[in-house]
Amino acid sequence: MNKREFLKYSSYLIGGTFIGGNTALSIPSFAEMTGRKKQNGKIVLKYNPYTLQLKHTFTLATSSRTTTPVVLTVIEYDGIRGYGEASMPPYLGESQESVMKFLSLLNLSQFSDPFLLVDILEYVENVMPGNYAAKASVDIALHDLIGKLVMEPFYRLFGLNPAKAPLTSFTIGLDSPEIIRQKVAEAEPYKILKVKLGRDNDREMVEVIRSITDKPLCVDVNQGWKDRGMALEMAGWLKEKGVVFLEQPMPGEMKDDIAWLTERSPLPVIGDEAIRNVKDIMENKDVYSGINIKLMKCGGLNAAMKMINVARAMGLKVMIGCMTETSCAVTAAAQLSPLADWCDLDGNLLIANDPFDGLKIVDGRVTLPERSGIGARYMYY
Ligand code: MG
Repeated sequence: MNKREFLKYSSYLIGGTFIGGNTALSIPSFAEMTGRKKQNGKIVLKYNPYTLQLKHTFTLATSSRTTTPVVLTVIEYDGIRGYGEASMPPYLGESQESVMKFLSLLNLSQFSDPFLLVDILEYVENVMPGNYAAKASVDIALHDLIGKLVMEPFYRLFGLNPAKAPLTSFTIGLDSPEIIRQKVAEAEPYKILKVKLGRDNDREMVEVIRSITDKPLCVDVNQGWKDRGMALEMAGWLKEKGVVFLEQPMPGEMKDDIAWLTERSPLPVIGDEAIRNVKDIMENKDVYSGINIKLMKCGGLNAAMKMINVARAMGLKVMIGCMTETSCAVTAAAQLSPLADWCDLDGNLLIANDPFDGLKIVDGRVTLPERSGIGARYMYY
């Protein structure tokens, strides 16, 4: 008997009991009806380091790299596995060592019920400050586990319509014109491209892309510009080049300059590196037009949902992004995509050794898998 048949049968029994006034009818438990035996009623956390090999050297305004360290997590309960991931881009200050150290401090077996998500995440949050990628790896695995236990995709438990997922962009890093042409060709299924700027050849980069495609662009400067006058001039030029928005044009500390730019810019200005959590949104509410939410910055789906609600209450645009990470964390973030104005969920496509299968991009939009939990399938079991 599957879950739906069980629920139908249970409600029939309840209805029968109510109408007939016969209290002698007993309702069997879920375990009795499904035949699933409780293994030990304990939540068990396991984790392993993994190194992502990038398809292309990933160059930003401030760094360049060919690998990204991650830690993959598994939370087991009642014979069911929930998968999670911590991805550590250099600027967040976490490493495989720090994530595994943090995870080794957790005692999730003290909880007998994974549905106590709020209690468990509150415990995890208070074990040590910071460590948000590590915390995200627990949050994602728990959401995956809960979805699998009730046999529903998590977006359905959030009450979200997957058909409302916005267009998602594909990132083109800083590179030679030849490689840029190759990357633009790879980005064929995407209807928006994201270009990384912030060096001395910004206009050349945009011109090269424009010579190949007229798709809308979004621009991420990764804090690379330092002069607000120049940033405003660039914003005007980029608008003419079909750019949709401008992400983190200057360092987060240059609040007054960014607020000045946002007031005058013909393009919306989105905060990324400067916005990690709800407190950052409150402190920057007059600085940006919108925010880029990433699970690795905020600590997972639970925190991301709070950020979306706060940002919307303040009239800010919402973008959902990711780091270079496997289809596990990217598909988890995608569960929230129907709530966003824009998505930038291509981190899994930038790597050559993705051990998960998850979201797909169809006609430029995020298409969520119809699988329980966060919808990512580990391909080695
Ligand atoms: Mg960014």
